[in-house]
Amino acid sequence: MIKDPSCIFCKIVEGTIPSKKVYEDEDILAFHDINPWAPIHFLIIPKTHIPSMAQANLDDPEHVALLGKITALVPKLALQEGAAPYPEGGFRVMVNTGNHGGQEVHHLHFHVMAGPRPWMRG
Ligand code: AMP
Ligand code: ZN
Repeated sequence: MIKDPSCIFCKIVEGTIPSKKVYEDEDILAFHDINPWAPIHFLIIPKTHIPSMAQANLDDPEHVALLGKITALVPKLALQEGAAPYPEGGFRVMVNTGNHGGQEVHHLHFHVMAGPRPWMRG
């Protein structure tokens, strides 16, 4: 497990910064976004420090498994957190990557947003 001592999400993983947890297993953590855009807004992150989606490596079976697991967790956690079922409800998944992608925290995270509109943004 890679850790970056200056990374806020690594500190959330180790518990030095508190979070409102949605899900946890040995590889993955999900927690509520501190500044939600939508009635339901949480983040899913790998526990290991991967700076962004730009570092996702198709030749690394651990990356492929991790990204597959995170993606497959989205519908389960969205429903768990109160999203209405597809297609009337549903959810939005967003992975901001790099400066042009609007990324502010450089530890890979999947935003999951759901709930009745209007939303604060988007
Ligand atoms: P991004 O702009 O995609 O890098 O998104 C970073 C997200 O992390 C923003 O939506 C922030 O509100 C959220 N965030 C920053 N610090 C925390 C924290 N301590 N706990 C929960 N969410 C956070
Ligand atoms: Zn990190």
